Amino acid sequence: MASLSLKNIVKKYPNGFEAVKDFNLDIADKEFVIFVGPSGCGKSTTLRMIAGLEDISSGELYIDGKLMNDVEPKDRDIAMVFQNYALYPHMTVFDNMAFGLKLRKTPKDEIDKLVHEAARILDLEHLLDRKPKALSGGQRQRVAMGRAIVRNPKVFLMDEPLSNLDAKLRGQMRIEISKLHQRLQATIIYVTHDQTEAMTLGTRIVVMKDGVIQQVDSPQNLYDKP
Ligand code: ADP
Ligand code: ADP
Repeated sequence: MASLSLKNIVKKYPNGFEAVKDFNLDIADKEFVIFVGPSGCGKSTTLRMIAGLEDISSGELYIDGKLMNDVEPKDRDIAMVFQNYALYPHMTVFDNMAFGLKLRKTPKDEIDKLVHEAARILDLEHLLDRKPKALSGGQRQRVAMGRAIVRNPKVFLMDEPLSNLDAKLRGQMRIEISKLHQRLQATIIYVTHDQTEAMTLGTRIVVMKDGVIQQVDSPQNLYDKP
């Protein structure tokens, strides 16, 4: 269960630049919300504030009705998947996937179980001993997803997770992400430039421009109109 509520969220960076201005959005449990908009319009900044990686300058973020503004990232029950994977190069696939669990002092046998379970779902079991440099782009992206799903978080934030993959892999991973959404019953916020991804994955699409929401609509209403 995870609903999100963003109320009058503003992000002013230390240099004075307002990257997000009065952002208001309610997201229901298990929604798959897509953020689209030109580069620099504040999509990543918004995700980073939700994850707690960036302070909120003003406004309130609620998850399941609980104010989250001052809650540490590791206590937010949120996982983030980045475009550049952000894997630790010196660690094996297993250790990359286990990292967030170790950070939270999960018992070792529990870590073993959770990592193997995620590896099975993502077809990574045979790669657990490898380092990231010995993986293909698609496999690295799977590891990044694996690291996110091991904790079974209520909310997934994905920032252009497929944009470094070639068209064929992108299509495959898109289907996998859709299945994962069903399987994990999680709430997902997903940033993309890809209209196919937006249309096939999204339950709702948020169009941003210059730090504000321009439009919120269903994929059908947004893209199918003549
Ligand atoms: P998007 O994800 O939509 O491409 P971002 O959220 O990354 O946009 O960036 C929004 C705006 O904030 C951009 O103009 C960017 O240059 C600016 N920005 C991002 N990070 C910082 C920072 N640390 N300091 C100042 N400005 C920043
Ligand atoms: P969690 O499972 O708690 O999300 P992560 O394993 O994703 O933890 O990483 C914790 C922090 O370390 C995050 O802020 C992430 O951006 C950062 N991080 C992850 N991989 C790298 C890397 N290779 N280099 C630098 N920072 C990284």
